[in-house]
Amino acid sequence: MNRIDLKSATTLREPAELVAHGLAAAADLPDLQKVAARYAVAVTADIAALIDADDPDDPIARQFIPSADELVTQPGENADPIGDHAHSPVAGIVHRYPDRVLFKLVHVCAVYCRFCFRREMVGPGKATALSQAAYQDAVEYIRAHPEVWEVILTGGDPLMLSPRRLAEIMADLAAIDHVRIIRIHTRVPVADPARVSGEMIAALKVKGATTWIALHANHARELTDKARAACADMIDAGIPLVSQSVLLRGVNDNVAALEALMRAFVECRIKPYYLHHGDLAPGTAHLRTTIEHGQELMRSLRGRVSGLCQPDYVLDIPGGHGKSPVGPVYLSPANSFSGEREQEAETRYRIVDYCGDVHLYPPEP
Ligand code: SF4
Repeated sequence: MNRIDLKSATTLREPAELVAHGLAAAADLPDLQKVAARYAVAVTADIAALIDADDPDDPIARQFIPSADELVTQPGENADPIGDHAHSPVAGIVHRYPDRVLFKLVHVCAVYCRFCFRREMVGPGKATALSQAAYQDAVEYIRAHPEVWEVILTGGDPLMLSPRRLAEIMADLAAIDHVRIIRIHTRVPVADPARVSGEMIAALKVKGATTWIALHANHARELTDKARAACADMIDAGIPLVSQSVLLRGVNDNVAALEALMRAFVECRIKPYYLHHGDLAPGTAHLRTTIEHGQELMRSLRGRVSGLCQPDYVLDIPGGHGKSPVGPVYLSPANSFSGEREQEAETRYRIVDYCGDVHLYPPEP
């Protein structure tokens, strides 16, 4: 195993640096430079240390090291795959569902995921953080909409902000009476756990609203001792954590990898929340699976681990129509099973157990 050891503050951002550290082949450099000109690249020291540079199929490398496959945009792939723009009343806000808004504060991340659904919007060259005037307009929008119960800070990665700035933002939001929940989506505890300092955790806690953290991780190896400690510090401070993962070909698209990931979350006191089907982001087809395969994996997962370890398998419907569960269906009318007892079809169901065996409900008298 060939591990890369960088100084802790180092982040690799140039394809030439990836080649120099053995994380990409020199022959690929021209293609990788084309990829990097379009989509941001960043690999932190913590992530680089997880990659086995001798393994051409390393599941961590697949998530962060650019590939020439990203130069190919498939039909149906879209720069705004989940329709953020269609539901953005003011800069920085996406108001898709009545009771919650996304608040996109920053456009930078600690690492740039090769499958990112906002890859056309995140990265140093894409856009700058919200101006102070735009930030105030966004807060005003939330204040003027009493139906907004939950504000989801996303981006970019909100934990790239300084603790001081985060504390100001949290206080501004918590001062709005109807905002009861502030949820923060982040990859920082995995990608750069040292950022989760005592000061940062103090900034996340605020009077008047409850903070939730949604941690993004896709492979059990990402939950290193340092990442686990960062999560434990947040949880011990009273901040509940849930997980979100993306189903990715060559990363976690087998039941053993998914099982290990979900068990690792639960061991860390992080409730598995979402397993996203890969969005139709440009240049990401090589990382997507089929929905049928995802459903098969979810069926297998249910046969192996408890309900604590079960995420919802969801698809963001292109065009901004929101998320829907796309996991396997366990209950169906009995007439589609036997077809012979027409009078009972409305009251009897077939239900599949965790082993895949089929039963009737209510059972035969
Ligand atoms: S951390 Fe999130 S927003 Fe940033 S590149 Fe990864 S998936 Fe995209």
